Amino acid sequence: MATAERLIAEPQVRHTECFIGGKWLPAASGKTFETINPATEEPIASVAEGDQQDIDLAVDAARRAFDSGPWSRMDARDRGRLMYKLADLIEDEIDELAALESLDNGKPVKDARAADLPLVIDCLRYYAGFADKIQGSTIPIRGNYFSYSRREPVGVVGQIIPWNFPMLMTAWKWGPALAAGCTVVMKPAEQTPLTCLRMAQLAQDAGIPDGVINVVPGFGPTAGGAIVKHPGVDKVAFTGEHLTAQIIMREAATSLKRLTFELGGKSPNVIAADADLDAAAVGTNFGLFFNQGQCCCAGSRVFVDERVHDEFVDKLKNLAAGRRLGAPLEMETDQGPQVDQAQFDKIMSYIEKGQAEGAQCITGGKRYGDRGYFIEPTIFDGVNDDMSIAKDEIFGPVMSVLKYRDWDEMIERANKTFYGLAAAVWTRDVTQAHDFARRVRAGTIWVNCYDVFDAAAPFGGFKMSGQGRELGEEGLRPYTESKTVTIHLG
Ligand code: ADP
Repeated sequence: MATAERLIAEPQVRHTECFIGGKWLPAASGKTFETINPATEEPIASVAEGDQQDIDLAVDAARRAFDSGPWSRMDARDRGRLMYKLADLIEDEIDELAALESLDNGKPVKDARAADLPLVIDCLRYYAGFADKIQGSTIPIRGNYFSYSRREPVGVVGQIIPWNFPMLMTAWKWGPALAAGCTVVMKPAEQTPLTCLRMAQLAQDAGIPDGVINVVPGFGPTAGGAIVKHPGVDKVAFTGEHLTAQIIMREAATSLKRLTFELGGKSPNVIAADADLDAAAVGTNFGLFFNQGQCCCAGSRVFVDERVHDEFVDKLKNLAAGRRLGAPLEMETDQGPQVDQAQFDKIMSYIEKGQAEGAQCITGGKRYGDRGYFIEPTIFDGVNDDMSIAKDEIFGPVMSVLKYRDWDEMIERANKTFYGLAAAVWTRDVTQAHDFARRVRAGTIWVNCYDVFDAAAPFGGFKMSGQGRELGEEGLRPYTESKTVTIHLG
């Protein structure tokens, strides 16, 4: 059972090395890098900087566990049991893990505790239940044959994740991989390695055999690149920027690895004139500012029917101005710092571009405080489709408000992006809601809500926002291969 919610002022950093074949090892090169507390800009810990040599060891361990180890012989239901156990161990440590996530990433501990961690636990349990339900079918082919299909694990999977939801992205990747019977080599983001490393130890404590889960912290082009190029890796699952996915696709071409991608977005969030404006304002504020705006599905293009524009924008402004910025480990904090200096600089440069291109900054627009990567919740009004802030993914607390007059024209504008991850509409008109859901080209559509995630509901992108889906039964498929067996009956 979960412990009572309690504040951990100084979360413990217990693991900083590579986790390979069930052992904690320094990087073969001996190198380390510092993970920084984004609220103070001070180092938290030195972490092993894995590169190709460590990935080679990790892939060997994962291959052995897959090809001949106990994992390959274990009954599916027993695999599921170990996954339930891992979920239980995470739940037992929920407060500590939420605090560690908050320390390394900068997200408010309140959010990590109420959103990230429950979703992590739920995802692992959801896929644990799937372990013994992955099955094939019998196939009625012509002739005197018995033909059937099997769904088998794809093999060793390389998993490369970003820093915005470190534990949740770990769970989204491990859940389907373990349920399907795959083994894993994971590289967490260089900004946020700590909770993924802790999860690796909990996986071992749960009884998941050595070599099934391997975690190698390090940088993208070196450790990540080595995973992508390694001939012993059968599939790569990646979450991050589309530009990185393009590199990965090119590098994976040699071995024709299976690839799934969950990438960026510039999601439209539409406020129709008949919407419940109070609910829409709360949902819009949450849909953009949650997690400091660092969500691939952030509702960053807010289209408002011109008839309700002024009233709605007033509400948005009040909500944004009411957000409490501060130390992520304090329970009252609504908004923490951005994850690092590079993100801070990129977001500030977009705020400058918004101003230079003629949008009106109606709240925020500045750094908050003088220590840590804090940026005020910022809203630009009077944005048009061609401005940089309406086109590019900013990945920060910067909202663009665009007016619309005509419904069909709005749908066309909503689709005028190479992204297609998510979209939302706020309306009381059910016909209008369905029309929007059918015509907007995005992998997830929310109606009168935003950021509703569930382990059972597939998530992923149209167009440059991704390839394949995560979560749900659909999220399992890329972790399996289909095999057809045909037997001559004499
Ligand atoms: P973000 O802007 O969210 O950091 P990235 O796509 O740069 O997005 O990073 C997401 C993950 O991909 C991180 O773990 C990062 O280290 C890794 N990564 C970055 N470049 C490469 C690369 N060339 N090959 C493999 N992984 C990479």
